Amino acid sequence: PGTRPYNFSAGPATMPEAVLRRAAAEMLDWHGSGMSVMEMSHRGKEFGVILAQAESDLRALLAVPDHFHVLFMQGGGLGENAIVPLNLSRGLQADFVITGSWSIKSHKEAQRYCDARVVASNAADGHTALPDAASWQLNADASYVHVCTNETINGIEFQQLPDLAALGGKAPLVIDFSSHVASRPVDWRRVGLAFGGAQKNLGPAGLTIVIARDDLLGHALQICPSAFNYKTVADNQSMYNTPPTWGIYMAGLTFQWLREQTEGALTGVEAMEQRNLAKAKLLYDFIDGSSFYLNKVDPNCRSRMNVPFFLADESRNEAFLASARKSGLLQLKGHKSVGGMRASIYNAMPLSGVQALVDCMREFEQSHA
Ligand code: PMP
Repeated sequence: PGTRPYNFSAGPATMPEAVLRRAAAEMLDWHGSGMSVMEMSHRGKEFGVILAQAESDLRALLAVPDHFHVLFMQGGGLGENAIVPLNLSRGLQADFVITGSWSIKSHKEAQRYCDARVVASNAADGHTALPDAASWQLNADASYVHVCTNETINGIEFQQLPDLAALGGKAPLVIDFSSHVASRPVDWRRVGLAFGGAQKNLGPAGLTIVIARDDLLGHALQICPSAFNYKTVADNQSMYNTPPTWGIYMAGLTFQWLREQTEGALTGVEAMEQRNLAKAKLLYDFIDGSSFYLNKVDPNCRSRMNVPFFLADESRNEAFLASARKSGLLQLKGHKSVGGMRASIYNAMPLSGVQALVDCMREFEQSHA
């Protein structure tokens, strides 16, 4: 442990080394079954154990109430951009809060299936601050309200989920929590449905997690593919079609790892939240204290997971990336739509990795100022 480089990829992203080692140890023969998890029938008793354990660990980890279904699906975040309106919109209206690249994509895709309306947008400030929930123009007839609670590219995060009921809304809140799932607790009283791809905070690409309140199932449009109908998936315990078995196994190992993490008296996501706060503070404080680096996001909604930053002199970008690579810091290049750098510091990134990044940034500044 501690010998691999630190990997700041936005996703697929770094995973806990302990999880990778366990998967390696179990690769050829899972628990004396004589099979790799990849080789097992999804309907066999071995995989049944893996699936049931993964669901119960995820429920415990995120404190998912009993009246929510946990679905293990495929299709990723972009798949859900269609699957959600196919299941929830009834072909009617749906409200979208535009906060950055991913909510823009969600709104666009939903327009194929329903009357998708923008009720608030931060486009005017370049997606650097969240539109105040009190200003959202919620529609009385909306079937749901879509919010991306962590905009992975723009580095903007809701520090509190909007309370739609308090805003006079009746529609359920749908959250895309792809890039901060399990990094902090979820207030399920405010949520109707949450979805996320696993490949940032939970495991390899190919698995999509959907957690949906039970009254939202059973309203799919006729054209909804059966394999993407939440009710069909729920009625078949995520086994209507072959689920992404390897992804479920790896995410399951990650859920177990997360449940074992402690910070003082805290465990699981509460412990992770404290670590994530400390990691984010270390990096943002360093950036704010330097005139060589810059982060443009409103401090009230800076993401704890994805930290985009710029060099004041962008002609040094390539030199910076080369110096980072030499220090064992990988995949720091920013998304092409934003430019600059981005450090994704998900659950599996230890504080020592963020410290190594800050040290490298400081040395680069000192040698180039
Ligand atoms: N939503 C968010 C917030 C994301 O970060 C991503 C992936 N970067 C997506 C949706 C799209 O996910 P996928 O590529 O799995 O479709």
